[in-house]
Amino acid sequence: MYARRIDLHTHSSASDGTDSPAALARKAAACGLAAFALTDHDCTDGLAEAAAEAARLSLKFVPGVEIAVRRGERELHILGLFLPMSSRTLEKSLAAIRALRDTRNQAVLDRLAALGMPLDPEDVRRRAGGKAVGRPHIAAALVAAGCVAAGRDAFIRFLGRGCPAYVPRSLPAPEEGITLLRRESPVVSLAHPFLSPTMTRSELDGILAEFRPCGLTALEAYHSDHGPEQTNICLELARKHGLSVTGGSDYHGENKKDVALGTGRGNVNVPLSLLDDLERRHCF
Ligand code: AMP
Ligand code: ZN
Ligand code: FE
Ligand code: FE
Repeated sequence: MYARRIDLHTHSSASDGTDSPAALARKAAACGLAAFALTDHDCTDGLAEAAAEAARLSLKFVPGVEIAVRRGERELHILGLFLPMSSRTLEKSLAAIRALRDTRNQAVLDRLAALGMPLDPEDVRRRAGGKAVGRPHIAAALVAAGCVAAGRDAFIRFLGRGCPAYVPRSLPAPEEGITLLRRESPVVSLAHPFLSPTMTRSELDGILAEFRPCGLTALEAYHSDHGPEQTNICLELARKHGLSVTGGSDYHGENKKDVALGTGRGNVNVPLSLLDDLERRHCF
């Protein structure tokens, strides 16, 4: 008998994933997961639908969200897990974050227009489907307009950092972002610290020393973009800083074809016991 897996980091069509929240729950059940978290970017709109479908399938569901913060030059991502199903304060904070997203998206569209690629903002919004609109949706609009062959090319040529239509997003400071999640959720986890190839053990050590007093309670050790060495550094630093450990695939459906729900790139295997540890440690 193999240990059952969980996945505490996934995205639905409420942000930049391609599966509806209900379809995601069905896929989670079909691939044998014991539990999964929905952690859409800046948006909790998918939680109710995912929770209802998970309940129907007797699958444990963890309501979550992923936000970004800026620390110096770095954009870091933070997961709030075990959120209440609805919270007016959190919704207000997320709406403010999304408004900054919208301002940035318009600046990107202005640059693309200046480069000879005018896109209709309404078309981009429609492609997003939900409230959290971002570069993947602009990339899809560029593909549809015939400006690039694939979404990846849109990032390489126009939308990626340092490219002609790149505009940085205004992001909350770490303390602000951590605080707004911590008010609502017992588990606030620094997501995929090694997604950036320039992250080092010592920089991460410093980040955790700074974030822990702000209310960070966990570190995402298992992730599609972490190799065994990076996962081990995370496990070691989580222990050092008294943080819990979380993990997930960061599944985005067709928008990240090489990342599978539950298993990532074949390198993610988060045991159900991790969920028990979180529940015991944070008493909920
Ligand atoms: P945004 O939140 O609007 O800044 O867009 C960030 C999202 O764009 C990420 O969550 C990824 O899904 C996607 N993304 C970022 N960089 C790339 C890239 N180089 N190629 C493809 N997708 C990317
Ligand atoms: Zn995403
Ligand atoms: Fe992320
Ligand atoms: Fe994510």
